[in-house]
Amino acid sequence: MSARILDGKSIAEQIKQEVAKETAELRGSGVQPGLTVVLVGNDPASEQYVRNKVKACETLGIRSEKITPPTSISTAELLAIVKDLNARDDVDGILVQLPLPSQIDAQRVLLAVDPAKDVDGFHPVSVGNLVTQRPGLRSCTPAGILEMLKRYQIPIKGARAVVVGRSDIVGKPCAMLLLHEHATVTICHSRTQDLPGVCREADILVAAIGKAEMITADYIKPGATVIDVGSNKVDDPAAPKGSRWTGDVHFESAKEVAGAITPVPGGVGPLTIAMLMANTLKAFRLRRGATAVVA
Ligand code: NDP
Repeated sequence: MSARILDGKSIAEQIKQEVAKETAELRGSGVQPGLTVVLVGNDPASEQYVRNKVKACETLGIRSEKITPPTSISTAELLAIVKDLNARDDVDGILVQLPLPSQIDAQRVLLAVDPAKDVDGFHPVSVGNLVTQRPGLRSCTPAGILEMLKRYQIPIKGARAVVVGRSDIVGKPCAMLLLHEHATVTICHSRTQDLPGVCREADILVAAIGKAEMITADYIKPGATVIDVGSNKVDDPAAPKGSRWTGDVHFESAKEVAGAITPVPGGVGPLTIAMLMANTLKAFRLRRGATAVVA
């Protein structure tokens, strides 16, 4: 039997509607959350990501601002921009689009962002808040994965979860969020022995590897929920543009074994932007001492 398809687009839409409802209420009382994106240089992929983020803000009633320093900017100049944004009361979220040019000390820049405005959830203070379950801003993609599981009512408590990938932005925070929901979590990586065998123990299998279609049916326990974070562009002469986007999971074989599965595109991807919007609203509320209603 074919797996249930977990539709990331519709979950993202739900989350965005909740954000829009809250921002409309806030605007009714004369305030508006604001996100500032810093885009250094003119990398086409980064420009597209930023366009999507700004567009989402506009649709949801979040004030957005784009700052576009030239590629030649120095670390000190970029730090000065971040310092200014930290000090501005109308800026709730600061997002420094990665990657940064090679002359920039990216770690210093990310560390300079006020953790209260760290809507990407990459700052070590945000990571510490996550690990210790304190209020704070969570990394968008892992937070989106948890929203997907919860809204589809996939049982997490007591489940065996296997996360393949241990990056700071996806694998590790995703494992931590699953742990906090009382899953029994295993994190795998490139040195894991018998990866298919470990994956087959999973009730929830998260693939965040960056290797196109690596996870095939023989990695999957029958009935498991498979979350495919991968976003890989592969050559395909049969595709209209000669290439297509695919995940880390071999969808066609996996869907015959899994109980539920996210497609690529249309799975985890749309949730990342939705959670960025939710995080901006959360930052607005946390900075004012309130508890966020959304996510
Ligand atoms: P990284 O490259 O930072 O991490 C990849 C992880 O996969 C590493 O921990 C690595 O192990 C592990 N890995 C690599 N090869 C193997 C292997 N053969 N067997 C087991 N583990 C392996 O990637 P990211 O976490 O940043 O991203 C992962 C994927 O998710 C990418 O495709 C990326 O494009 C996508 N992505 C999608 C997003 C979305 O919004 N949909 C957002 C962010 C990422 P080791 O640590 O040992 O090297």
